[in-house]
Amino acid sequence: MPSNAPQDNSTTRCQGDHLTIGPFYIQTVSGGQYRIDGGTLFGVVPRLLWERQFLPDENHRILQETNCMLVETDHKRILIDTGYGSKLTQRFRKHHDITQTDPLVTNLAKLNIQPDQIDLVILSHLHFDHAGGSTRFDENQQLVPTFPNAEYVVQQQEWETAMADLPELKGAYYKNDFELLAQTGQLRLVKAEEQILPGIRVRKTGGHTEGHQVIYIEHENEGAVFAGDICATKSHQPFAWCMSYDTNLLQTRREKTKLLAEIHQNNWWLLFDHDPTIFAMKPS
Ligand SMILES: [Zn+2]
Repeated sequence: MPSNAPQDNSTTRCQGDHLTIGPFYIQTVSGGQYRIDGGTLFGVVPRLLWERQFLPDENHRILQETNCMLVETDHKRILIDTGYGSKLTQRFRKHHDITQTDPLVTNLAKLNIQPDQIDLVILSHLHFDHAGGSTRFDENQQLVPTFPNAEYVVQQQEWETAMADLPELKGAYYKNDFELLAQTGQLRLVKAEEQILPGIRVRKTGGHTEGHQVIYIEHENEGAVFAGDICATKSHQPFAWCMSYDTNLLQTRREKTKLLAEIHQNNWWLLFDHDPTIFAMKPS
C-alpha cells in the first residue's frame, strides 16, 4: 500500500508494506476504510490547509484507513488494533461510506491467517474504528470474540472510561465491541507503562482519550512505535494538527511532541493508524 506514496525527500520510507525490527515482522492489515468529516480530523487547522493534504468529497468527508498492525515472531502473532469490524448499522455505514463487511478478518484470510491463530491483541483505545473488530456476531447471531485464543490488552483507565456511561462521552464507545472480553476471561488490563512481551511494551499517553496508549516494538537499537490517534496520519505531525475528538487536546499536543522527538532521536519508525497512503515513516 505505501509503495505508491508520493516521494518526500525529508523522510525515509519503509519499502513495501512491511518492516522488520529484529525478530518482529510487522505488516499493515487493513481493518477497513471509511470517510469522515475532514474538519473533525484537524481541529483548529483551517480547511484551506488540510484540504491540500486530503481532498474532501462533496459531503466534506475525507478517506481514512484503519491500519491494524500484524506483528509476527517465530512463535507469536500479535495484532495492534482491530478496525471497525462487522457490527456497524446500515445508517452508520452510509454515514461513513463503509462498503466492506468484515475487513480485518477478510484481509487476514488473504494472508492465510485465521482468527484463532492470533495470540495477542493490543488496543490503542476503545473507539469503534480501533476496537470494533474485536468482537463479532457468529452464525447464530451470538456476540463472540473475533479472536477466540487471544488475550486483549487495554489500559485500565480506558476500560473504566469506556464502561462508565459518561453522558459527556455519549456515542464515543460501543460496549458491544469490548464488554464481552471481560466475561470470556480474555481481557488484560494494564496500567501506565508495561511490558507485554519481550520487545513489546505499551505506554499510556492520554490525550485523544483518557486511557489512550501507544505501542513500542523494540530490538536492540531498532524500534517502531504505533502512535494510535496521537499522530494518526503523516499530516498530523505538526503539533497543532490534532483531532477535535481529543478529550484532552493539550495532552495530545504534549505527548505528540515528546513522542516524535523520542522516535526521531532513536531513528525509529513511526507507525500511522489512519493514513491511507503510508503506514510507516521515519520522522525528520
Ligand atoms: Zn481512530
